[in-house]
Amino acid sequence: MLIGCPKEIKNHEYRVGLTPVSVRELTQHGHNVLVQRGAGAAIGLLDEHYVAAGAQLANDAAQVFAQAEMIVKVKEPQPQECVMLRPGQVLYTYLHLAPDPEQTAALVKSGSVCIAYETITGPGGGLPLLAPMSEVAGRMSVQAGAAHLEKSKGGMGVLLGGVPGVPAAHVVILGAGVVGTHALQMAVGMGAKVTVLDKNVERLRQLDLVFGNRIHTLFSSVQTVEDSVLDADLVIGGVLIPGAAAPKLVTRSMISRMKQGAVVVDVAIDQGGCFETSHATTHAEPTFMVDGVVHYCVANMPGAVARTSTFALNNATIGHAVALADKGWKTALRDNPHLKNGLNVCAGKVTFEAVANTLGYPY
Ligand code: NAD
Repeated sequence: MLIGCPKEIKNHEYRVGLTPVSVRELTQHGHNVLVQRGAGAAIGLLDEHYVAAGAQLANDAAQVFAQAEMIVKVKEPQPQECVMLRPGQVLYTYLHLAPDPEQTAALVKSGSVCIAYETITGPGGGLPLLAPMSEVAGRMSVQAGAAHLEKSKGGMGVLLGGVPGVPAAHVVILGAGVVGTHALQMAVGMGAKVTVLDKNVERLRQLDLVFGNRIHTLFSSVQTVEDSVLDADLVIGGVLIPGAAAPKLVTRSMISRMKQGAVVVDVAIDQGGCFETSHATTHAEPTFMVDGVVHYCVANMPGAVARTSTFALNNATIGHAVALADKGWKTALRDNPHLKNGLNVCAGKVTFEAVANTLGYPY
């Protein structure tokens, strides 16, 4: 199969769909890979690395889209990319169609076979192609929070781990899922005092077994959230109710009673956020203040560490990419129901029930 990897064109997107390591995996299986010149240059993946891995180079995206049988990307196709897709061509990337009627209509019109990373399931449950980005955002949230506790960034001027004779900062983590667990690991590693809250007691049990008395676990209730937040120097929001907007666990009133110069990092902002005072921000201007509390609410945190994110994403996507290339999409999807769950649009029809229902397509 001829597999194509265009350069991402969404604003400030530096990730790339295939690394040279992934290209080598595909060429080893007898496939040809066409990579747009400069596709990975921003994160140090140079054209010569791709050529060494067996790729051919294309001068522009038009050539990649015109020749490839399968396109591997990171972000959803932009309008100028959608019009280059053709019937029967496979598109393998993040799509997030439910809130995006224009993109859905364009993909339906294209007649292509669109497989979305975010709806592919895993044998052990969960969404394995979404998890790497939650791991990145969870780990990054502590780094971002620690930086913004510094005076120059608007924070109260506290070092996360303290020093001998001076107490460490109190980090409160809302949600003990993928984001929460990875935030917890970083916060514990930096020597902070850490409290984690979740409604799922089984998750808290598992964390307690691993971290013992280095962390405090609390069942999440209005009372425990309020008590923890009011004592916190840094609060990280990583709650998720699948398919729904994030619950506003921290109210405006709680924010106004927090310590001056405390920091909140709302990782769940892509689902509307779990702080009542949150609104989405960008890497160019990541924070704003409400009642003396620094709010960091960047909706695409992994974009800031595009190199790490690219490798983490490729680790999760390459297996299915090889299966799709080896077997063709029909057989690959028939053989693997988890991969089949990724099929969102196929030959002019919306094939993912939640997207069809949300946007009014027949299913
Ligand atoms: P997850 O499903 O692994 O974990 C969510 C956790 O929240 C679960 O353990 C759940 O029990 C818990 N929860 C639900 N309601 C709660 C409540 N009332 N109190 C306390 N805990 C509660 O999800 P995840 O992968 O960790 O993702 C968390 C959020 O982060 C999602 O909205 C995801 O989209 C977002 N995210 C954002 C970025 C970004 O760049 N901003 C990047 C990756 C993920």
